[in-house]
Amino acid sequence: MDENPAFKVGDQLILQGSDFSELIVRLKAAAYRVVGPMVRDGCIVFDEISGVEDLPAGFGDNQDAATYRLRQCDDMALFGYNNGPQSVKRFLYTPQREIWKARRNRKTVSIHLPDTEPVKTAFLGVRPCDLNAVLIQDRVFTRGEYLDDDYNKRRENSLIIVVNCTEAGKTCFCSSMNTGPRATAGFDLALTEILHADHHYFLLEVGSDRGLSIVAGMPCDHASDQQLRTAAESVTRAADNMGRSIDASGLKELLIRNIDNVYWDSVGHRCLTCANCTMVCPTCFCSTVEDTTDLTGNTAHRIRRWDSCFTMDFSYIHGGSVRPSAKARYRQWIIHKLASWHEQFGTSGCVGCGRCITWCPVGIDITEEARAIRQRDIRPAEVSETMEV
Ligand code: SF4
Ligand code: SF4
Repeated sequence: MDENPAFKVGDQLILQGSDFSELIVRLKAAAYRVVGPMVRDGCIVFDEISGVEDLPAGFGDNQDAATYRLRQCDDMALFGYNNGPQSVKRFLYTPQREIWKARRNRKTVSIHLPDTEPVKTAFLGVRPCDLNAVLIQDRVFTRGEYLDDDYNKRRENSLIIVVNCTEAGKTCFCSSMNTGPRATAGFDLALTEILHADHHYFLLEVGSDRGLSIVAGMPCDHASDQQLRTAAESVTRAADNMGRSIDASGLKELLIRNIDNVYWDSVGHRCLTCANCTMVCPTCFCSTVEDTTDLTGNTAHRIRRWDSCFTMDFSYIHGGSVRPSAKARYRQWIIHKLASWHEQFGTSGCVGCGRCITWCPVGIDITEEARAIRQRDIRPAEVSETMEV
């Protein structure tokens, strides 16, 4: 091992499993709150961790449509599981945020804005699909006409440590969306976990100056060609074993010309409009604003909270909801994700994380619905002039 290695951005290093805790120590020493995966309530969630002992060592999961079960594995991999229901979205774009609070004191009213200084946060264990979801939300909240100051500040104060996937879940389809299973850009550090019977180590890729400041001086070697090959093969294996796929070719045009396809009735009969799919999706960004007062009428709050295009209220305008049926709401959601998102933000709104499949209580599967529409594709001449909702 080099005594004082001079690392640089782009370096691919080897961090021994026995030294992994050093990474967390360094993050904390640099005043980062470390948010990482942990087991809670029977699944993997993201929350603040105090050390390597909080990570889900030895846990994997079984996932399928409407199915999620944790399982104990016969190894002690720290990142041997696939995505749980949460992404880091809930830390960058919080489920609920106070916008202002007003207090009345006799004849005066004072308005208080929340303290929006975010905590420096290192996100450990972000999967490549979720990193791409963050990059998509960056486009939504930090570019264009309407900027989200709170999101911006949280992003500026974040450091992202990706963990490339060496195992794919049954509901994953990131390969189809070109968002995984290996992260190629946008991270500060990227890890690939390699676990042999007698050797546990990580390929550690330095992606930014911010990441470099954490690993500088850490007990790492430069990776050998053999170690690089091993890591690449592990990720390729995950890509080859991806549980699902979606044919993305011409998908936008396909969905838009099939807006009147009678097949939407079928999904409309199954969908419960529970909004689970939008709550677990790492790219969904819709919100609503609510005003409340206390019983005395002396204090008022305005909050922003996540909302969903699956609720009736979401599209309520004078006279009623624009999308009164489950069919109309599911169709709006999938067409926005896979088609009109391209026009709005220049990418798909889906990163293939598979959460909406796992957590849909009736097992509606975005890849199956897209496939079903492709099989029933109506030719442009058949597209009716009116749209039934
Ligand atoms: S639409 Fe489904 S698979 Fe795509 S990013 Fe959202 S939750 Fe993941
Ligand atoms: S598609 Fe599934 S998760 Fe989404 S609203 Fe319908 S029933 Fe709920």
